[in-house]
Amino acid sequence: MGIISFNEIASSENAARKYFLGFCWKNHQRYCPRCRERKLYKVLDGKRRCARCHYTFHDFSQRFIRGCGFTFQQWLWFLKLFELNVHNQQIANQLKVSYATVLKAKDVLRRAILAQAPDAAEYYELGGWPGPGRPRPEDQPVDSPVFGIMEFNGFILCDVLPHLDPESLFHFRLNFRLAMTCLGQVVYTAPYQQYFMLVCCGPSFAPIQHLTHKDGRLPADSHEFWGNAKQHLQRMRGVVPAHFPLYLKEWELRHNYRDQSLVPILASALCGFVPQPPAAGEYPNPDRH
Ligand SMILES: [Zn+2]
Repeated sequence: MGIISFNEIASSENAARKYFLGFCWKNHQRYCPRCRERKLYKVLDGKRRCARCHYTFHDFSQRFIRGCGFTFQQWLWFLKLFELNVHNQQIANQLKVSYATVLKAKDVLRRAILAQAPDAAEYYELGGWPGPGRPRPEDQPVDSPVFGIMEFNGFILCDVLPHLDPESLFHFRLNFRLAMTCLGQVVYTAPYQQYFMLVCCGPSFAPIQHLTHKDGRLPADSHEFWGNAKQHLQRMRGVVPAHFPLYLKEWELRHNYRDQSLVPILASALCGFVPQPPAAGEYPNPDRH
């Protein structure tokens, strides 16, 4: 989407709202976000009430786009600036919002991107927080999940591998000489099975960061996807392990849609419902070792 057509949808709050609404209901078929019932009653202010569970909602209820106090116009401009990789402080200046608001909006957007991934449910089961309006897991795992990264027809796929953890990576290195290297708390490996690298982020890798930690140049280092990701990592000067999967999914999306406008893709993600976390008590013990 070029700046001219963008200008049309961003020209008024109403036009921006209509643009986002276009991503909300397939074929304009509304249903209850709680129980998916289609029989609804119209109530005041454009809201609807579910005939089955009596939940009252509007078109954007329970969606990521409600996770931050932006107007629809602000969200649109935010997506454009995000697409252009504008620095956080610049975004704050342009939108006349605080730096903290920009960070919050980015977190909401990244969680919306992650929610679209086929392996999102596995990520939530490992203790990842789905997003605004959902309870936060009581204990965050110390390390990020392990991801396997593969390329398929030019597309990058970052798969959560729930059966692996940092200890398994140490084991592969020790017993199968799987080469690995690190960038701060982020550790990545030589190819493994169908993946051209495994990657994980967390303090459990501290021992290899101080010992014989670098196994030289790995195949991933010459891959465009990982080359760009490393540049991001270096610019960020460190990443919180719990946030690492969010960045990974953002880089995956940027790589896979590098020739397209990201605004409609991001808008569609933002208009998705925030998934429910696994039912209470189903969060696994964060100490997965
Ligand atoms: Zn309902």
